[in-house]
Amino acid sequence: MVPIHRNPSVLRHLRRKAAAIWETPLDCATAAGLCRFSVETKKLESFNERVIPNPVNGRVYGAIVVGGGPAGLATVGTLLDEDVKPILWIDSKFQGGRLNTQYREVPSNTKVSLFIAFARATAAFRKVADQDPTPPAYAALQAMDQDTGCDLAAAGDMCVELTAGLGRDADVVMQYGRVEEGALSEEGVWSVTTRPGRAAEGKEATIASTRLLVLATGARPLPPRLPETYGHLAPLHLDTALSPTALAKALPKDRDVKIALVGASHSAILVLRNLYELARSSHPGVRVKWFSRHPLRYAVDKGDWILRDNTGLKGETAVWARENLEEGVWEKSEVRGYVEKIFTRPGEEERRAYERELGGKDVDMICEAIGFEKSDLPRLVRVDGKAGGNEIGRIEADGTTGGLRDDFGEIRGLKGVGIAWPERVTDKEGNVESAVGLWKFMRLQPHHKATTMPSLLTIPQAPTRRALVHIISRPLSTRPFSSSTPAVAQRAKTLLEDRDQGLGFIRSNPRAPKPRKLGLTEMRGPYYSAYGTRHLEDVMETMGTHVDGLKFAGGSFSLMPEGRVREMIEVAHRNGVYVSTGGFIEHILTHADVHSVVDKYLRKCKDLGFDVVELSSGFLSFPPDDWLRLVEKVQSHGLKPKPELGIQFGAGGDTEVSALEKTDTSDPSKLVEMGRKFMAAGVEVMMIESEGITENVRTWRTDVIQKILRDLPMENVMFEAAEPKVFNCQVVQLACLRSGIWGMADTFGKVVSFRDGN
Ligand SMILES: Cc1cc2nc3c(=O)[nH]c(=O)nc-3n(C[C@H](O)[C@H](O)[C@H](O)COP(=O)(O)OP(=O)(O)OC[C@H]3O[C@@H](n4cnc5c(N)ncnc54)[C@H](O)[C@@H]3O)c2cc1C
Repeated sequence: MVPIHRNPSVLRHLRRKAAAIWETPLDCATAAGLCRFSVETKKLESFNERVIPNPVNGRVYGAIVVGGGPAGLATVGTLLDEDVKPILWIDSKFQGGRLNTQYREVPSNTKVSLFIAFARATAAFRKVADQDPTPPAYAALQAMDQDTGCDLAAAGDMCVELTAGLGRDADVVMQYGRVEEGALSEEGVWSVTTRPGRAAEGKEATIASTRLLVLATGARPLPPRLPETYGHLAPLHLDTALSPTALAKALPKDRDVKIALVGASHSAILVLRNLYELARSSHPGVRVKWFSRHPLRYAVDKGDWILRDNTGLKGETAVWARENLEEGVWEKSEVRGYVEKIFTRPGEEERRAYERELGGKDVDMICEAIGFEKSDLPRLVRVDGKAGGNEIGRIEADGTTGGLRDDFGEIRGLKGVGIAWPERVTDKEGNVESAVGLWKFMRLQPHHKATTMPSLLTIPQAPTRRALVHIISRPLSTRPFSSSTPAVAQRAKTLLEDRDQGLGFIRSNPRAPKPRKLGLTEMRGPYYSAYGTRHLEDVMETMGTHVDGLKFAGGSFSLMPEGRVREMIEVAHRNGVYVSTGGFIEHILTHADVHSVVDKYLRKCKDLGFDVVELSSGFLSFPPDDWLRLVEKVQSHGLKPKPELGIQFGAGGDTEVSALEKTDTSDPSKLVEMGRKFMAAGVEVMMIESEGITENVRTWRTDVIQKILRDLPMENVMFEAAEPKVFNCQVVQLACLRSGIWGMADTFGKVVSFRDGN
């Protein structure tokens, strides 16, 4: 039987269904062409004042997103989930970016399941995908084998479909045009000037403002370099060569043509295959000289991670390369009849090879698949009273947060997403790569819903600066996913959960699945004694379902080799467990050059994969405003701050009871007051230090616990339990107590619940 995704008639049918709606360029679609969506998709019609009466001039937006490709789409979906409203979304076509406009015929290097994961990654997307009748492009993808690739047309159609769906949201204003300039005021407000698209030629540029400007402006192939030296070579654009249809039109059918192809990347091998297919069929005169600097590199599935996930050959392209281009098969491959391989080494050897092979006149065209560069950015300026302002020049991205900076530091309220500003990731063998792909764009977004800590912040209609910083930084701290896995490891049912085969017949207290809002358990990583991934894997395999967070207490991780820290963090993330630093900041804050040291520390934490940074003040006297500034700083690095609050001065170390008794405890009201300030600053969870409450005291201060729980929401506080005799000190024991299958006299007895249906 032909699998459905390979069955041409099914595909034709599904594609026709999708194309019926999407093939017409949406910005000039006729009402008839869009009849099904004509009422709801008003913003997808032509730029038309009747539909959007002067929608942008002077208006203030929660965010402005520049670019309607997959990354812009991901951003708008994420911001809608975050209640950032209204959103101005600008693109000249809204046709799914280059993925859909240039690469429809390219076989994907990602599995269909990742496109589906993308379409389900935000509530705003899910609303579109789940509408009735089922959207055709999404349905087409669902009908395919999820474990193989597909033509990018299928993913492109899905992007256009989601774009149209988001366009129906009253909080999204889609403007057809090109952003020409963004000007940042001293107050942190961006004024964005857009020139209307072709359909609105003659119309004036519009200006809109926001505190959050997101550039999702994409990237294009690097221009060919060799025609500068070898003027007789006609450039063959990579975009043309990647499309079999465009390539067939660009090359002569009735005469010989020799093409030099440079590169061994995924794109280069796709072009090589396209050229070979034409040579053996419709264009018999085509021959290729293929220049490569290194043997082919493949992505390798290592079980729970992928080696060279972003740069190695994958999918159909990898299969073709292995079957035709590798030593041992090359000699017998048909490809050899049309392609000549030339291996070079960068430098003088390569220069000589080009001179030898291209200096004569027998090669006619050249295609260089040598990488991508950012598309042209709008002009960006800082306005500081001077006429014209200061142009923002060379922009660098922080590949871990999406934040952008220039020579003067971080650029306020400016974020970069997508292929132009990819996340930098390091695989387990230390290869540093740019994470590019639809699913991966979701990870460097303002927010991803699958956080492991509760999300309690409600963003007002026009977010405050602090809220904005928070919004911007949230996605980054969300790391339950490894670079290649769309979801945390599938968890096996516990015996108590298994009603059919296990012990589900025994009464127990129900517990919400992770990520939970209440009843979180954060366990300690190496501190008093050392342990590594083997121990952690054991804990996760057996009790992982009961663990929400892992904390490397104190500065313990700084004593470990980096690779081991990364591995442990990876294990935690795979199990849906967030990872927190301990109170190391106390030590960092004592440095002389405190600002740069704090920045470096946070950057490294982010790079290592931490999600949460603990902010404790145990041994320090720390003014509240400084503490709040630190909260904001942590958020600006895309991490979640977890302040540690206590009533005991001098807490945090191994100080004896007698020594602590000589120092004072403070009034719990002070703690509550500070806690409220933290919540207003967007802090989700605060840790209450056990010193002076259950640790290093002769009698437990349950009165303090009661006061805190009365005055602060339960979901915002977590109580530290540092001593074995405190009931919740051990993961297994605590899980037993929570589920009510075990209790002890000094731990408030057995926890029993009385609920409907249980
Ligand atoms: C050959 C190839 C194969 C790929 N295969 C896969 C794959 O299999 N799976 C996968 O997940 N990913 C794949 N990708 C990667 C990636 O998904 C695509 O490159 C994707 O198109 C990048 O999305 P983007 O939104 O960052 O940029 P783009 O798609 O380039 O979109 C940018 C948009 O911004 C607009 N724009 C730019 N400047 C302005 C401005 N000043 N004002 C208004 N609008 C502006 C542009 O018109 C465009 O619409 C592939 C990439 C390539 C090159």
